[in-house]
Amino acid sequence: MPLTAYDLTGRTAFVTGAAAGIGRASAVLLAEAGARVHCADRDADGLHGTAELIEKRGGTARTHVLDVTDRAALAEAIRSCERLDVMAAIAGIMHSSPVLETRDEDLDRVLNVNFKGVLYACQEAARLMLARDVRGSIVTMASGAVDTGGPGLLCYGAAKAAVVQLTKTLANEVGRHGIRVNSIAPGWIRTPMTERHDQQAQAHTEGMMSRMAPLGRVGEPDDVAHAVLYLASDASAFTTGQILRPNGGVAMP
Ligand code: NAD
Repeated sequence: MPLTAYDLTGRTAFVTGAAAGIGRASAVLLAEAGARVHCADRDADGLHGTAELIEKRGGTARTHVLDVTDRAALAEAIRSCERLDVMAAIAGIMHSSPVLETRDEDLDRVLNVNFKGVLYACQEAARLMLARDVRGSIVTMASGAVDTGGPGLLCYGAAKAAVVQLTKTLANEVGRHGIRVNSIAPGWIRTPMTERHDQQAQAHTEGMMSRMAPLGRVGEPDDVAHAVLYLASDASAFTTGQILRPNGGVAMP
């Protein structure tokens, strides 16, 4: 397959969680590959920063300030694309609490953002691709937490496990229309999420990864963005229903 398989010129991509971290890096890389990128997030300032980065590099970006749990707002933003080739449903939140201390409201909040927000994006993207007969690619964001079930990760891991199920089920349902659906389960990536979550855990994890992980470091947002580009592009034309694990060789929550 020629290297041009990574070329997204003339295609339109929609990225949720595009204001920071992995979502921002992915939006910028998809734009660098030639896509016109629709960036969605609830953080207006962060979105503006991402659009500036894309435009500075000669790309085209449009921003949508919205909450992914607002199905109607998300659907309207996605439909405004008219034609959609790539959906990257990346927005998510971290939550940690022991099983015995987990409250209903924690579970609802995390499932709403990390699962339902992804489900709404996938449903609307697939509808638009089917309506326009586009052989598109949908990429969801799971987590290494689905492999490890680490302490405190009941809500987060349950939502990400549901994302994996959604990915595999939808891949089976729309594959005959040429639409591919894949997920990414990153290990520990240095982003505002992990930095905000727990400084102590961050330092501990970075030390442990440098000593024990085969690749000897934690990940950077670009490490995941390249996985998003691969799955979004024709380079992965024969890949669907799969979970890609950019984790430096070790599954970490
Ligand atoms: P981040 O906090 O740095 O960025 C997440 C972005 O999502 C932010 O811009 C935030 O405003 C946006 N967002 C959150 N809730 C939203 C909502 N309800 N509506 C709209 N936008 C919303 O996080 P990140 O580390 O870049 O994580 C991105 C994705 O990758 C998440 O789904 C996360 O669970 C997953 N992930 C991250 C890691 C990691 O180590 N950083 C590992 C595995 C998986």
